[in-house]
Formats: sequence, structure tokens, C-alpha cells
Amino acid sequence: MTSKTDLKNLPLPALEKFLQGQGKERFRATQIFKWIYQQDAGSFEEMTNISKELRTELTKTAYISRLEAETVEEGTDGTRKYLFNLGDGHAVESVLIPIEGRNTVCISSQVGCAMACEFCLTGTFSLTRNLTTAEIVNQIMAIRHDVRKNGEEIRNIVMMGMGEPLHNLDNVIPAVQIMIDGNGLQLSNRRVTISTCGLVPEMIRLGQELPNVNLAVSLNATTDELRNRIMPVNRRYPLKDLIKACKEFPLPGRRKVTFEYVMLGGINDSLEDAKRLLRLISDVPNKVNLIPFNEHEGCDFRAPTQEAIDAFHTYLIDRHVTVITRDSRGGDISAACGQLKGKLGK
Ligand code: SAH
Repeated sequence: MTSKTDLKNLPLPALEKFLQGQGKERFRATQIFKWIYQQDAGSFEEMTNISKELRTELTKTAYISRLEAETVEEGTDGTRKYLFNLGDGHAVESVLIPIEGRNTVCISSQVGCAMACEFCLTGTFSLTRNLTTAEIVNQIMAIRHDVRKNGEEIRNIVMMGMGEPLHNLDNVIPAVQIMIDGNGLQLSNRRVTISTCGLVPEMIRLGQELPNVNLAVSLNATTDELRNRIMPVNRRYPLKDLIKACKEFPLPGRRKVTFEYVMLGGINDSLEDAKRLLRLISDVPNKVNLIPFNEHEGCDFRAPTQEAIDAFHTYLIDRHVTVITRDSRGGDISAACGQLKGKLGK
């Protein structure tokens, strides 16, 4: 069986190679790339500046995939959750967060997740499979198609949906290359953020291969004892190694590492924790995202009190840390952090 190539798996240099392998000129790749990502072409038929011959030839060796949303739910705050059927019985969810006309899309990188963080719903499903580059890019393109109906564009991409992006770097790196390519999705590298639970060797690889995107690290605990318990990855890469990798991450210009900190009521939300957090990250150019725990069925953790959030936030602000407390968005449709499950049917 000859299998056709999904062109959405190929960043521009790989598409050039693919075409050259078929004896075609290199500049054709840029034309086709623009058709796919800028014109949203779904077939070769549409590519009118390409000869009919080449188009016919391409249909024999290649295709252009798309994702269609199986369901779209809209929360009271305008957050929209998309469930994408991947066609093999699996599905992933992505979330559109419109804040004052600046659309942020939170995308998934895996079906399920192998990291098993104790507080995260996705983590309870274990890893089913990695998403392909095309499936990662297609989440953005399907949502872009939707927002363009209102004359809007997507501004920010955060890889904070289902899965651990650094556990699927072979597909995530080409996907990000397509996102930030001036002939591709044309997103600014400043507006693409990859979030990791702390896979240290992969953080180093990311820094080498994609040094210009933003790095977010889900810290969530300030002692190895607690982090070992709630994030098993810490047993492999303890805090000392993780912070070292953050320190050495090649950040362009004045950019900072975002430290995400899920506040679990009564577990990691005291001022002692805030103090330790400050000490831990002080050698890294940093900003902090506090995320009040979003409760979900079957999980015993509780959200922190408003007082605990305020006290933690104020402690850091008073010490000149840039802190944002993420307001929980899309909670009513289970679209908030840690609530994605991506299951088809009931
Ligand atoms: N695997 C990556 C990205 C996915 S999780 C990572 O760990 O960073 C995205 C963010 O949601 C992480 O910071 C994670 O700690 C947080 N999160 C997971 N479950 C949550 C929950 N129930 N409530 C609040 N935040 C949660």
C-alpha cells in the first residue's frame, strides 16, 4: 500500500525536500505552503497559480488534512471548548479564550498524558498516543476558521491543553515551526508558549531547536517532598535540576520563564510556600502565574480560599515579582486548566 503524505506534517524546509524528491522546483513549496496556511486550502484543486499537471500529480502522493469540531461549547464568559474527533476513535479538546478581542488558543499535544500529575484530570487517563504535527496545527486552523467568521484572528497560542508537549517534541517542534513561519500561520514567536511539567533533557533540546518561543514551567510545589507526591516527574528531575535547566534556558532579550503554580487549598498555598517559591526562582528571569485549582470529579484536592490567593499574590508582588492570578475561565463547560478530557460521546 502506498500511503500519501499529509502536507500539514511538513514545515517549509521539509515540504521543499518532499517536492524536490519528486523533481519539482523549490519555490513551489512556498506557494503550496501559503495556500495551505494562509488561504486555508483543503485541496490542490484550489491552488490556481500551480499548473494543472503538478496539482494532479500531487493528489497522487499527498493530501491536506483538516479537523472538524465534533462539538463546540460556549461558556458564560465567552470561552469556547472544541472537541476534535481524530478519526481513529480518539479525540482531543482545545479552548478558545477571547480576552478583549485578543484571542488565545490553548491546544493539546497528546491524547491523554503519561505524566500522571495527581491534580490533573487529563493525567488520570494515561497516554494513548502522540498527536501528529498536522493534528496540532489543525486545532489552531479549525478555531481560526471559526473566529475569522467574525473578522477576528488568533493572537496567542499556549500549549497548555491535554498532554505534555515536551513528551512529543518530534511533532511539537515542526508544529511550532509552522505556527511562526512568515509563510505559514504567521504567529509571532513571542506569542507562542510551551508549557512543561519539567522534563529536563527535553527542555534542553527545546532551547537548542526552538530558542525563540516562550517557556512556561508548571512548578506547583516548592519542596521535593510535595512535588514528588503530586508530580511524579519530579522523582526523575528534582527541583534542583529543573531550576538549573530554567536558568540555562536560552531566553531571547528580556524574556522571562513563566512559572505556573497551581494553588491547592491547604496543600501548597501558605505564605511559607510563597517564601520558598520566591527563593527557588530568584535566580531565573521569572514571572509567576498563580492558578487556583479547578475542581473536577474524582479528585480530592480543593480550591484555595480567596484569602489564601490574595495573601500569596500580595507576598510576591510586594517583593517585585510579576504575578498574574489566572482567573478561572470556562469552568462551567469544564474548559478550565486541568479539566480537559477529550472523550467522544457520553
Ligand atoms: N503538561 C503541561 C501542559 C498541560 S497542563 C504542563 O504540565 O505544563 C497546563 C497547566 O494546567 C499546568 O500548569 C498544570 O499544572 C495546570 N493544571 C492541571 N490541572 C489543573 C487543575 N485541576 N486546576 C488548575 N490547574 C491545573
